[in-house]
Amino acid sequence: MFLEIVNLKIEIIPVTPIYQNCTLIWNKNNKQGVITDPGGNVNVILSLIQQHSVEIKAILLTHGHFDHVGGATTLQEELKQLYNWSVPILGPSKEDQFLLDKVVEISEHFGFYSPEIKNVQPLRFLKNKEKLTFDGMCLDIIHIPGHTPGHIVFFEPSAHLLITGDTLFKGTIGRSDWEYGNEPLLVKSIKERLLTLGDDVYFIPGHGMGSTIGVEKKTNPLLI
Ligand SMILES: [Zn+2]
Repeated sequence: MFLEIVNLKIEIIPVTPIYQNCTLIWNKNNKQGVITDPGGNVNVILSLIQQHSVEIKAILLTHGHFDHVGGATTLQEELKQLYNWSVPILGPSKEDQFLLDKVVEISEHFGFYSPEIKNVQPLRFLKNKEKLTFDGMCLDIIHIPGHTPGHIVFFEPSAHLLITGDTLFKGTIGRSDWEYGNEPLLVKSIKERLLTLGDDVYFIPGHGMGSTIGVEKKTNPLLI
């Protein structure tokens, strides 16, 4: 799905058999951009990068689950081979290192086998309130623990655009029924750090359709 918000263009690319929303976000003036959560289907992602002639400046990860990060290392390798770009992998927060170290093992446990799925070693982890500045795009890092301990989201303030990964969804919130999950912390973090960003903020979640903060504040049964 293609979106255009202020100066940004966005391709939402469902990847992996569980349709995880990878996004390609770029500034329409300079055609520089970033990729978030390339969980798999690296060839599809590469063809969209080529189709839109976007120069990729970073691969950004919201959290360590394999459907979000499985293709990150392969994408980084392909971008080096095809264009000779050295693209850094940034994020998530360091608490998710234990998941990045076991991407292959965990994906095979769930029945997903592919040579493009690899463990991930980011150039660096990202911290709450950090700002990533690219030419034509600025992203605020917001730590939203609870689905995983190191989950972060990306907020572009001038476009009022939020990439929420598996924290906030249209009509629901991310799962937390595993040993490292924490639902009360997830709800508290969403209420304090996301619902306060502004009612007109549009968000793209890790799965399914997008929504706005204003709609979720009024209608999301887990947040009212
Ligand atoms: Zn997840």
